[in-house]
Amino acid sequence: MTQKFDVVVIGAGPGGYVAAIKAAQLGLKTACIEKYQDKEGKLALGGTCLNVGCIPSKALLDSSWKFHEAQDGFKVHGINHAGVTMDVPAMVGRKAGIVKNLTLGVSSLFKANGVTVLEGHGKLLAGKKVEVTGSDGKVQIVEAENVILASGSRPIDIPPAPVDQDVIVDSTGALEFQAVPKRLGVIGAGVIGLELGSVWSRLGAEVTVLEALDKFLPAADEAVSKEALKTLTKQGLKIRLGARVTGSTVDAKKKEVEVNYTDADGEQKIVFDKLIVAVGRRPVTTELLAADSGVTIDERGFIFVDDQCATSVPGVYAIGDVVRGMMLAHKASEEGIMVVERIKGHKAQINYDLIPSVIYTHPEIAWVGKTEQALKAEGVEVNVGTFPFAASGRAMAANDTGGFVKVIADAKTDRVLGVHVIGPSAAELVQQGAIGMEFGTSAEDLGMMVFSHPTLSEALHEAALAVNGGAIHIANRKKR
Ligand SMILES: Cc1cc2nc3c(=O)[nH]c(=O)nc-3n(C[C@H](O)[C@H](O)[C@H](O)COP(=O)(O)OP(=O)(O)OC[C@H]3O[C@@H](n4cnc5c(N)ncnc54)[C@H](O)[C@@H]3O)c2cc1C
Repeated sequence: MTQKFDVVVIGAGPGGYVAAIKAAQLGLKTACIEKYQDKEGKLALGGTCLNVGCIPSKALLDSSWKFHEAQDGFKVHGINHAGVTMDVPAMVGRKAGIVKNLTLGVSSLFKANGVTVLEGHGKLLAGKKVEVTGSDGKVQIVEAENVILASGSRPIDIPPAPVDQDVIVDSTGALEFQAVPKRLGVIGAGVIGLELGSVWSRLGAEVTVLEALDKFLPAADEAVSKEALKTLTKQGLKIRLGARVTGSTVDAKKKEVEVNYTDADGEQKIVFDKLIVAVGRRPVTTELLAADSGVTIDERGFIFVDDQCATSVPGVYAIGDVVRGMMLAHKASEEGIMVVERIKGHKAQINYDLIPSVIYTHPEIAWVGKTEQALKAEGVEVNVGTFPFAASGRAMAANDTGGFVKVIADAKTDRVLGVHVIGPSAAELVQQGAIGMEFGTSAEDLGMMVFSHPTLSEALHEAALAVNGGAIHIANRKKR
């Protein structure tokens, strides 16, 4: 007999699994279809984020940072020790353990909330029917009042550097190196390229990042991207801008790859022991939609949706990386919640203007709202307040004084329009800005709040005060 559900979700990434849990919590009979198998051939929930994305990359970033600190950062505290070494397989093993814990955690949450897991490949048919093909080839059809497509994304391949997951790897392969490559190339100076480049650079790899664009981190505020380029270069990342990769040749015997690229000086060659291709991700819609499903795809391959994630078929929604917008786990999850709330008849909406972006390098880079350049291009007059961590007592105590907080406010209304941070705990600090901005905070409001001392958060307080010339612990550029 055909199983019927109120909600069927295809994909158990942070978009799909959060949507499924929320739907079950709201009393909807829910199933979630997932096909991803771990190295042991077992179904693993959690999608890209938990298995090969956010979590494993942060695990390696934290391990490599601790190693770097132990090697270079402890002396200043008076801690002397010799001969710190790195056991790479142990580090990668720790990461695998965290991934397992979390993916099993999603299974437990499904169980606790009564979400039915259907293992296999899901395909949307006409009339809100979904075909599920198991790994054993068995096919079943389920029916749904509502279908949520959450099939996510996968790395983009480029013909000049085909991934072999040995010498040339994608982001997934770069999380699995069992030894530190001596010479590591990274194609793409985006979030993933910089994070993975930082991991292996901290462990001793000589890292060169080849970026086709002339501009570094074009989405970030210019002051932040300038500071980031300076700091990451000082840390040893060789970042080559305007470097367009044209070809590569793998020497299987020597286990190395020669990469050809062109830049302002003409044709160049460089040899690496490993090469990470991190040029972006594309939506996954392979075998997802039957020809008569009625769901349309836009010219860039994303499932076409409106602002509320409804597709062209009533009762069918799509969320996360497979639709327009930033490819971020928290954006996927919030879209999942919004869709389920709307299925229940509630009025839910996402404020797409206030989705924070984070790059987990050290220092971290994070922002919410608009950049100074974007606001000026829109003709908005702004006041800007900046506070450097070099003037923060807490940052000094931690010997982590690089970077700054920048608060941008409307010159007429004082409403905060952007918070940009490069520095320690930037990801956490920017969230405070996001909360304030959601409630329409002015720079004056932030300045009037009491912040604990000594905290890194005081840098946000001081930057907000600096917007109107009132910072206490630096000389104000703007006078009251
Ligand atoms: C190295 C790396 C680091 C990242 N770091 C961060 C970070 O720090 N913060 C952040 O916000 N984002 C980060 N991201 C991005 C983040 O992982 C994605 O934005 C997020 O996972 C998208 O969630 P999703 O649910 O849309 O899709 P996914 O997580 O991709 O999940 C989709 C799931 O659907 C399954 N699926 C696909 N098609 C079918 C089908 N037909 N049938 C059954 N199952 C199917 C897939 O197997 C997959 O499990 C990172 C990504 C990478 C690669």
